Amino acid sequence: MDGHEEAGQLRWRLVEQEESGMLFPVSALGERHVGTGEYRGMEFFHVNARAIVNKVPAVSKMPFEYTINAYRGCSHACTYCFARPTHSYLGLGAGEDFERKIVVKVNAVERLRRELRSPRWQGDHIAMGTNTDPYQKAEGKYHLTQGIVRVLAEAGNPFSILTKSTLVLRDTALLVEAATRTRVSLSLSIGTLDREVWRLSEPGTPPPDKRLEAVAKLNEAGLRCGVLIAPVLPGLSDSEDQLRAVTKACLEAGAVSVTPVALHLRPGVREHYLQWLGNARPELMALHTERFQRGSYQPAAEQHRISEIVRSVERPVSRRARWRRVERRVRASEAPGPSGSGPSGQSSRTLPDKRRVRVEALQLRPSTEQLRLL
Ligand code: SF4
Repeated sequence: MDGHEEAGQLRWRLVEQEESGMLFPVSALGERHVGTGEYRGMEFFHVNARAIVNKVPAVSKMPFEYTINAYRGCSHACTYCFARPTHSYLGLGAGEDFERKIVVKVNAVERLRRELRSPRWQGDHIAMGTNTDPYQKAEGKYHLTQGIVRVLAEAGNPFSILTKSTLVLRDTALLVEAATRTRVSLSLSIGTLDREVWRLSEPGTPPPDKRLEAVAKLNEAGLRCGVLIAPVLPGLSDSEDQLRAVTKACLEAGAVSVTPVALHLRPGVREHYLQWLGNARPELMALHTERFQRGSYQPAAEQHRISEIVRSVERPVSRRARWRRVERRVRASEAPGPSGSGPSGQSSRTLPDKRRVRVEALQLRPSTEQLRLL
């Protein structure tokens, strides 16, 4: 058995234990929610978060200062997940508990609305998907990420989302609307196209080809969606052929950026991952001992090798893909629509007039210099 069974052992205050400051009806209290149907095997622990926007510690090297995580634990169950140890802080286990016992901050949307109204809030960028996946399975039931996106859009507050889930497509219209009011950055995480490696290492996630489709659909909707090839797993998804294949597929799906990240294993995750690897692929243990002999990170040369492979595919393909996107936008902006600005009126937003004129002036095969100007 993984972790503790009793709700009372959670360090969070469960909703049913909260007597004051409740933001939901009394009828919703008093029970831990056991998943049924598509959520069978899962448990949901409702909590009242005292704050929903978290400030990232100054010592962190993260490229964002504020985050929101509406869920703790993640049913995507990635073997390498760096958030696993955070479940232990809650009195739950970093193994199966992390995948099946999900802490749900049920007041996240109302809480965010209040925090954004505070005179102290300066409208900084907020990152989602930095700890657990905002579009994991629980989101299909609770719609907290959807509510958070709506509130951020209403406030015109810039935000970014990183996810491995195609559930993000449910909110396409909302995200498009948000992008008309504020800066919205989206990234799908797709570590490999290899289905065997995917099944082994990310058993709760949608297949990689479905995630690629999501990248294409989001970009076609006018959203700027990139891909993190993350993490690249030693001996499993780090061969040149594998990296070239996934990079090419991402670019062809219209990814606005492709960024590879080599696996790192900090204490807490390291034990879990190596135990899993020892069972799943014991022949790779020696390679990991060598790669991680200096600590949590692989040698810099390995990240460099991976980046170089990705860049070597990206340079020529991205130029072609970029040009195809420009062509599509020009065609859409020229198509007759109700307002004379394209079928949905959206194209004129994503391709401002000045830029459109410049695009139209280009020859069919633009030069590198022309592409750089776009
Ligand atoms: S999707 Fe992200 S948060 Fe969820 S288990 Fe995988 S790595 Fe962890």
